[in-house]
Amino acid sequence: MKPNLPVLRHISLSADNTFGIAAVADALMEISDAAQLAALAADPQWSAMPRLILGGGSNLVLSDQIPRLVLKMTGKGIAISAEDADYVYVTAQAGERWHDLVRWTLAQGLGGLENLSLIPGTAGAAPVQNIGAYGLELKDVFSHLEAWDFESRTVRRFTLEECCFAYRDSIFKQAWKDRAAILSITLRLPRRWTPKLAYADLQKYFADRDMATLSATEISDGVVQIRQQKLPDPAVIGNAGSFFKNPVVSAAQHAELQQAFPALVSYPAGEQFKLAAGWLIDQCGWKGQALGAAGVYHKQALVLVNLGGATGADIRALAQKIQQDVQNRFGVLLEPEPVFV
Ligand SMILES: Cc1cc2nc3c(=O)[nH]c(=O)nc-3n(C[C@H](O)[C@H](O)[C@H](O)COP(=O)(O)OP(=O)(O)OC[C@H]3O[C@@H](n4cnc5c(N)ncnc54)[C@H](O)[C@@H]3O)c2cc1C
Repeated sequence: MKPNLPVLRHISLSADNTFGIAAVADALMEISDAAQLAALAADPQWSAMPRLILGGGSNLVLSDQIPRLVLKMTGKGIAISAEDADYVYVTAQAGERWHDLVRWTLAQGLGGLENLSLIPGTAGAAPVQNIGAYGLELKDVFSHLEAWDFESRTVRRFTLEECCFAYRDSIFKQAWKDRAAILSITLRLPRRWTPKLAYADLQKYFADRDMATLSATEISDGVVQIRQQKLPDPAVIGNAGSFFKNPVVSAAQHAELQQAFPALVSYPAGEQFKLAAGWLIDQCGWKGQALGAAGVYHKQALVLVNLGGATGADIRALAQKIQQDVQNRFGVLLEPEPVFV
């Protein structure tokens, strides 16, 4: 007789999402390799059930009840998988903590990931929204990934081009949403590393240092310090980091907004402009304010927080109110960054 799959029933996800929402999943199975996904696909009891792929839960707004089979990606392992004259290729299994991967590469003397230090979550989730911070995005250091395709029931390789990376976006948030479980990612780190220090916060932090002498590890340590000063620690106050994407507007709309609001905070993005979503929210008076148990962080208006006992519905209600206010005042629609489940 076939052994039963190790599926747990009625599982609390409170500790599995950084908002600390007290969600309960109908079922949960830990996944560390493709063989388990193949076994799942062959089991009629579980294969037809709606799924949620779960990493570290740091980019999710969960409902109270999750009537799904949660597949928690737990695969571990980091290794140098290939080398050529210009690059070293590092492969990490999906369940590795992203920051552990960054520090592992630095310990091997490999620079390239330092600007992405301390982003919460797993390696497997990093491609989903093409994580980015301090002037670097995953796509800048990405080689390829391996994912389980729930339709063909095979493992498939995705190249950089096939991932369709964009600002906080990829094919895994679009056409392949809920279709793929990323099993491993492979990054391409340059042998001849050069620091990326153009971002204003880094310029300020290292202002009294000779930037030409900074090591990748020193930059990583600096990024960690900057982030710890600016962002709330989810272990202390529930949050999912930046809640809204910075909206991108045309040059014409930007010019109109700048005329109406001379203090507008924005950055050129090709032929368009990126507006600082935090500034827009702050101008609507939301910084430090609350709606029920959901609030806006007092130091950074872009971060929504769980003030204690907030449900996914509370966070959604606050997000919608902020969206309305920003739309009414600036005519700009804010798009949430986390995934609502
Ligand atoms: C304090 C804080 C700061 C943050 N700062 C940043 C930042 O600077 N830059 C940034 O880009 N993000 C940031 N984030 C957001 C978050 O850390 C990233 O989006 C991270 O990549 C999410 O990883 P996770 O493992 O927690 O994914 P989860 O939240 O578990 O999942 C997120 C999405 O990815 C899917 N997913 C997860 N794992 C897999 C997999 N193996 N295969 C397929 N799909 C999968 C899920 O189904 C879901 O749709 C921050 C969050 C917090 C709490």
